[in-house]
Amino acid sequence: MHQLFDLTGQVALVTGASRGIGQAIAVGLAEAGATIVGVARSDQSETARQVQAAGQRFEGIEADLSQPSTAEQVFDEALARTGRVDILVNNAGIIRRKPAIDVTDEEWDEVLHLNLTQVFRLSRRAAHHFRARGRGKIIMIASLLSFQGGILVPAYTASKSGLLGLTRALANEWAPLGINVNAIAPGYVASDLTQPLQDDPERNRSILERIPAGRWAKPEDLKGAAVFLASAASDYVHGAVLPVDGGWLAR
Ligand code: NAD
Repeated sequence: MHQLFDLTGQVALVTGASRGIGQAIAVGLAEAGATIVGVARSDQSETARQVQAAGQRFEGIEADLSQPSTAEQVFDEALARTGRVDILVNNAGIIRRKPAIDVTDEEWDEVLHLNLTQVFRLSRRAAHHFRARGRGKIIMIASLLSFQGGILVPAYTASKSGLLGLTRALANEWAPLGINVNAIAPGYVASDLTQPLQDDPERNRSILERIPAGRWAKPEDLKGAAVFLASAASDYVHGAVLPVDGGWLAR
């Protein structure tokens, strides 16, 4: 591992680490040397297995981040277990597919709360810890719908567009504290979240036709961007968004 990308001795807190993108990022950071604290509602044993296979320690916290006070509690629990956190990856997120005209208040609130409000709360808690230490890395998992309107996912688009604004706002305030706040915008990644699109032959075909790389991303495709934004290699990168989208946005 090149020294610039080496995370030996560091601790990364990854939300939504039980599967998909969060799992792959957790394993990627572990392969770069980090201890992983994974947060998820569901079983994280497969993530634990892969992190340990990479020779690193894994701590799993079972928590439902949709509950109002959990963000701060989760961070404090991570600190209690590992004594330090160097990297926060705000990955947990949900999507609800429905025409805007049919979206209920509850559905709107559910998506905005988890994808945006809880990300702010967890980042704010992390920033208290990072400020005291003079450094820290916060990585947001944005989306192509941080840039585009999307189809039948209005709350999700609002949350991910807001998340990119939040990334820039926090970067402005926290860069002077030595805290890097940046985002990754994954393209179409084959995961549980996008299973309905993969299963719809028409949507699947139109998505594939528009991706210059000609394939869906695998969760593992996100590892490199995450290691970059978690490591010293990105120490002068603030408020940036790195698309990992097979060229979608360039089209
Ligand atoms: P996924 O559904 O496979 O995994 C979501 C993860 O979040 C799981 O670990 C789940 O346990 C966790 N999670 C969900 N609700 C939670 C809650 N209330 N409390 C705690 N944990 C919770 O999804 P994914 O495709 O891996 O997506 C991960 C992130 O990447 C999301 O923020 C998503 O918006 C974003 N993203 C995904 C794609 C894609 O194409 N899959 C594209 C762009 C962005």
